[in-house]
Order: sequence, then structure tokens, then C-alpha cells
Amino acid sequence: MDIIFKTNNIPAQQQESIISFFDSNLYKLGLDLTSLEGITICENFFEDIIEFQTKHKKREIGATKTSNEAAIAKVLDYIDKSDSYKQVVFLSDFIAQGLFLEEEIAQRSFHFINHELVHVHDEYNKKCKIYSEKARQGIGDHVLDHILRVHADAVWSEYIAERLSSPTVTASHISSFMDHITQLIERVEENVKNEISQYRFHADIDKLFSIVQEECLLLLKISANLVGVIHGLSSISDGKNKVEAQIDELFVNTYLFQIWNKLKEELNNLIETYPNWNDVYQLDRLGKVVLSCWSFLGVLPEKSGEQMYINVPL
Ligand SMILES: [Zn+2]
Repeated sequence: MDIIFKTNNIPAQQQESIISFFDSNLYKLGLDLTSLEGITICENFFEDIIEFQTKHKKREIGATKTSNEAAIAKVLDYIDKSDSYKQVVFLSDFIAQGLFLEEEIAQRSFHFINHELVHVHDEYNKKCKIYSEKARQGIGDHVLDHILRVHADAVWSEYIAERLSSPTVTASHISSFMDHITQLIERVEENVKNEISQYRFHADIDKLFSIVQEECLLLLKISANLVGVIHGLSSISDGKNKVEAQIDELFVNTYLFQIWNKLKEELNNLIETYPNWNDVYQLDRLGKVVLSCWSFLGVLPEKSGEQMYINVPL
């Protein structure tokens, strides 16, 4: 595995320490890192991501960057010259530097890296052992089923990333998730309401649906992170723990409460059978949770023959 430094912020000596830290810690995590080609530590995270995606002719360009959320780590994949599936973890340089700061920050930085490495493990399993290419691309499937599976897959990925990395999770990491979800629950409902009112004027259903998908996905991904933390911690400490009670409390009086409970149930069902899944079809029950999130917010896609009809009731 290569560690590449694309940063001027880390002196040579610290680079050595980072390399030896990775050498002695990454393979102890119990993850399948067969496809991990390397870790790139970046000063200009977004530029480096775009450069890689352009070089490997990726359809999706960029990483999450809004006024509220900005990615600081991401896993990208490609197929190498000998047709093997490879993955590279991109990390903002301050995460690698954080490994050598005070204990809480060091532990939290390691947890970020652990989370990304679980993505590597999970993507490898799915790509090479679970999903068929045809099903993953939705060839021959109804468009609504396909969209729901794509969303369910993204939600699942965030679940397993926190679930399997929970041995390194820190209290400050959990509390920042909790702050984030508290803001999101309110923000997403408000944004979707606004978009629906604007839709009554512009009547562009594709625009509305794409915004609703994006908003709900973020909400469900962070919720799935939290379910991952809860399930991970309870597998270590047994039974319903204090963290779970605190997190449940955040959802109990919101529109998300039913979805939250369903999410916990379906993600647990998925991990029980993982990686012995029936292709992408295993995600269909989780897809129903995604659909119910859209419905709760007032946007109801349904099948209409081969097409999809999106109902936005008054
Ligand atoms: Zn993630």
C-alpha cells in the first residue's frame, strides 16, 4: 500500500511517523483491505479528488461541499491496467496530523480513518462478492426500484462504516453526530417544504424530486451513522446503552421517529446476513424506508407502468 503526501504542511519527519502509524495499525482493524491501493494525504482535498475522478473518467465529479457540510475524507475506486478493482482513500492532511495531537483528537482522527477503511472493505465485498454489475446499474429494473436501491446502498454504507469502526469511536464524535442530526431534522423538513411551495409555481417535478432525494439522503446517511454507532457499541457493551437512549430521545417527537425505528430494524436485518446477500435486491426493504422518508415530506413517487409518476399532494 502506498502513502502519498500531496501537502506542504507535513514535514518529512512527521511523514515517517504517519507511515509507521499506518503500517502498525491499519491491518489490526480486522478489515479486508485487499483492494486498498493507497492513502493520499491532501492539502487541497477537493482539487485532488477532482483530479483523480477526471483522470479515471468518473461520472460523478467532486465531493460533498456545501455551506453546511464539507467532506474531509473520501474513498475513490478505479479499475487498474490488469483489470483489478482498486481503491484509494483521500484524507485531508489535518486528519493525519491530528493523529499526533492530544489524545481525544488523535483518537478521533484515527476513527475517521477507520470509518473510511470500512468503506474500502464494504465496497470491495459488494463490488467483488455481492452485486452483479447488471443489477447494480439497474439494467432491466424499474427506474423507481433502481433509484431506491442506489439510495439504500448509500445509507447501508454509512451504517456499516460506523458499525464496524465503533471500537474507535469517541464521545466527541458521537456528540457532533447528534448535533448534526438535530439540525438536519429541522432543516430538511423546512427545505423540502420550501421546495414544494416553489414547485407549485415552476411545476418542474424533476427539479423538486432531485432536491428531495439529496436532502433525504443526507438525513438518512447521518441517521444510519448513528444507528451504526448504537449497534456497534451495544455489541461491545451488551443491551440498550445510554447512548442509544440519548439518541432515541432526539427522534422521539419528530416526523422521523417511525423512520428511525424502521431504519434500525432494517439495518440490523442487513448486517445479520451480510455479506451473504441476494445481490442488490437485499436492499429492497431498506429502500422502502427511503421511500417512506420522501413520503413523510410530501413527495410520493409511484410506478406507472414502465414509468414513474411523482405525486405531490396538496
Ligand atoms: Zn462514510
